[in-house]
Amino acid sequence: MGYVFAAPAQPVVPVAGSTDLFPVHRVYCVGRNYEEHAKEMGFSGREPPFFFSKPADAVLCVSEGATGEMPYPSETSNLHHEMEFVVAIGKRGRRIAAADALSYIWGYAAGLDMTRRDLQGEAKKQGRPWEVGKAFDCSAPIGPIKPIAKTGEIRAGRIWLNVNGEKRQDSDVSKLIWNVSETIEHLSKYFELQPGDLIFTGTPEGVAAVKRGDLLEGGVDGVGTLRVRVK
Ligand code: MN
Repeated sequence: MGYVFAAPAQPVVPVAGSTDLFPVHRVYCVGRNYEEHAKEMGFSGREPPFFFSKPADAVLCVSEGATGEMPYPSETSNLHHEMEFVVAIGKRGRRIAAADALSYIWGYAAGLDMTRRDLQGEAKKQGRPWEVGKAFDCSAPIGPIKPIAKTGEIRAGRIWLNVNGEKRQDSDVSKLIWNVSETIEHLSKYFELQPGDLIFTGTPEGVAAVKRGDLLEGGVDGVGTLRVRVK
């Protein structure tokens, strides 16, 4: 017995400062997890966390110091950047208490939750799923994963994004409404977390459109930087 065609390649994210690769299982994302971003999207900022996901092969890996190339996606004229602090899971678990969440974290990365805002907005209006707005190919650019063994637990640190050298997003990971441990507690009620899962923890305020040719440069202090050119 064999596969009827070649099995797809395992999506991976490089580990910072190493030749090791982190195999991606799933990509979970948290919606509206910074108060000022929730407000700019028209909400109060006090809702419980909610989740959506992207396919594992939506990741677009960018090595430290390199510039990733992200194709401008089809069927949108309003592609938005969302700079995010990403948590990489290294251990299987469900119904994880926030107090125990730290031991499930393998590392951290800087990532972008790229969004077809026009299609997401239309889906919201119609009460439809968000996939076409959020889960498209190359919609999750990500830098190398830094092991928690090297960084220690990260609860604070500047998160920022410049577009063509101009500041667009500038906040701090300590401003997450639901911190990483609480996020893991909530998420693991709904899904059994697995080694290889990535959690995009949400974006701070300042999301806006990018166009072909724009250079996105961002990062999370203590974690790494990420540079992407939209093609
Ligand atoms: Mn997001």
